[in-house]
Amino acid sequence: MRILVSCDCGAEGSGEPGATYTCPACGLVWRMPPAAGIVEVERARRTHRLRTVASLGAVVVVAIAGLVLSGVGAAALGALITVAIWVVVVWPALRRRHASDLEALPPVDLSEH
Ligand SMILES: [Zn+2]
Repeated sequence: MRILVSCDCGAEGSGEPGATYTCPACGLVWRMPPAAGIVEVERARRTHRLRTVASLGAVVVVAIAGLVLSGVGAAALGALITVAIWVVVVWPALRRRHASDLEALPPVDLSEH
């Protein structure tokens, strides 16, 4: 596994996790995060994606249930309300939770001057 580096000077390269990377263009040294930290960030991202897909799946289920139970007109209104609730309540809550999950991870300082 290699980590992509976009240096402050605009040059790009890649380095091993836990090692240092010296920019060939400007000489700035970057410390790569340890592999463990990357795995945790990836896991948090995956969990966030799963929660988002699952909650959108619930919206679709509610819309289909409304269509089956109450006909097209009422189902369209119900779907609209459900989607609105998802956008206003569920999505921001998921994003807040993802942000706090990421904040709970140990901090990684990447630059080393
Ligand atoms: Zn550079």
